Amino acid sequence: MTASEHTSIDIAGLAAVGWLTGTTFLALLVLYFVGLDQGATSVFGSGTVIHEFVHDARHLLGFPCH
Ligand SMILES: [Zn+2]
Repeated sequence: MTASEHTSIDIAGLAAVGWLTGTTFLALLVLYFVGLDQGATSVFGSGTVIHEFVHDARHLLGFPCH
């Protein structure tokens, strides 16, 4: 390898990794809020505001609720 040769970085691959990572993070966040967030065990905030906001989606998707 001479001094004029360079190693190229696959920018498209890095962009794909970024998109896949972001999409996975958002999907897991939505899955948590719709499927797991309960009032008593809620990590984000207190009360059942988020639980009530996604309550219909929770029942639509068949997650156990009440
Ligand atoms: Zn319910």
